[in-house]
Amino acid sequence: MFCRNCGKEIDEKAYVCPHCGVLTSNAEAQKKTVNDSGSAGWGVLGFFFPIVGLILFLIWRDERPKSAKAAGIGALIFVIVYVIIFVIIFVIIFVIIISIGTQGGTVFVPALFSVL
Ligand SMILES: [Zn+2]
Repeated sequence: MFCRNCGKEIDEKAYVCPHCGVLTSNAEAQKKTVNDSGSAGWGVLGFFFPIVGLILFLIWRDERPKSAKAAGIGALIFVIVYVIIFVIIFVIIFVIIISIGTQGGTVFVPALFSVL
């Protein structure tokens, strides 16, 4: 390839032109892939959109490991929170049904399910 500053021929894999010292397009491409902030924003995204978080995790695993980890953790937290909420609701319903059942109030059980 040719240097876009001085126009002299340089190596295809060169990051800096040996003639004028200007960064080549290789160096700019390298900068973009290094842009791996791993910001908490990806974790938030992964939490609210766990499917997106999971996809980003799989896509970025090699290229942007920090961002991939943040998105993956966000999705993981969503799954954990979802399971906890599900278990709590299940336990509450179970306790209500048991307490109604022990009082012999079977009439209230269908009413409870109609509310849910
Ligand atoms: Zn040059």
